[in-house]
Amino acid sequence: MGNDGGSIPDRRDLVRSKPKAEALDKANQTRARWAFCALSKRRLQEPVVSCALGKLYNKDAIIEFLLDRETYGDGENICGHIRSLKDVKTLTLTPNPAPVQAGTEPSERTQFVCPLTLKEMNGAQPFVYLRPCGCVFAVAGLAAVRSSPQAADRDEKDTCPQCATKYTHATDCVPLNPGPEEEERLRDLLAAQRLLEPVKKSKKRKAAADGAVEQPPAKKVAAAAPSIATASNSLRSTLAMEEAKRKAGMTDAVRALYSAKDSGRKETFMTMGTFTRYA
Ligand SMILES: [Zn+2]
Repeated sequence: MGNDGGSIPDRRDLVRSKPKAEALDKANQTRARWAFCALSKRRLQEPVVSCALGKLYNKDAIIEFLLDRETYGDGENICGHIRSLKDVKTLTLTPNPAPVQAGTEPSERTQFVCPLTLKEMNGAQPFVYLRPCGCVFAVAGLAAVRSSPQAADRDEKDTCPQCATKYTHATDCVPLNPGPEEEERLRDLLAAQRLLEPVKKSKKRKAAADGAVEQPPAKKVAAAAPSIATASNSLRSTLAMEEAKRKAGMTDAVRALYSAKDSGRKETFMTMGTFTRYA
C-alpha cells in the first residue's frame, strides 16, 4: 500500500488510521489521568490530594514540589497554582472492593470506586470531591442521595453522605479531571478567589514594611544582647577582657572624638549600635 514503488499512496491511505490512533491516545491519557499522579506520573497511592482544578496527585509528590519547585521539570505548568498544602485537599477514596480478575495486571485494575454506586473511578463516569471534607463520589451517586436537591440550589447546605460534613452543593463539588471547558471555568474561579485573598495579605505586608523602617536596629540590639547574655561565663569574661583591651588601646583623641559626638548629637538608629559597642 504505497511506498513500495508499485503504487502511489493517496491521502486516504495515509490519513485513514489517524482518528483511531487519536482515540487510542485519548483513552490512554484518560486512563493515565485517573490512575497516575498528575505531577510525578507515579501510580496514585494514598494519601491522594486534589487541587482547585480537580487534578489528582500523590501527596508526597506535592510536598516534594513545595520544598523544591524544580523537582519535577514541568511542575509549574501542572500545578503552579499550588502555593502550599492549604491549596490541596486530601481525598477520602474508596478502594475498589471487586476481586482482581485472573489475567488482569494489578496496575490495569481501577483502584478506587464511588462508595455510593461502586462505579469505578476510571474516567468513564464523572466524579467530584467535596471541598470541605474531601470525600469522593460519582456525580450520579451524589445526586441520587441529595437530601433536598431543590432547596440546595438556594444556598441550603447539603450533608456529605459519607462523613456528614455540611457542604454547599453549588460551590463545594469540585469535578475530578474535568474537561477542558470545565477546567477553564475552575481556573477563572480560582483566579477570582485569589484576587480576593491579597487584600488581607497586602495590608499585612504593608504593615510589616512600615514597621521594618524602625525595627531592624531594635532587632539587632535585641539579638546581640541575648547572645552575650546566654554565652557561658568564661566566654563572657573573655569578651569583657577583649573589650577592656580595646578601650585601653583607644587613644585619648579617638575617645574624645567619640564622646564629643556622643554628647553633641542625638543618637539615631544608624549610630546607636556603634556607640553601644564602644561605650
Ligand atoms: Zn465527606
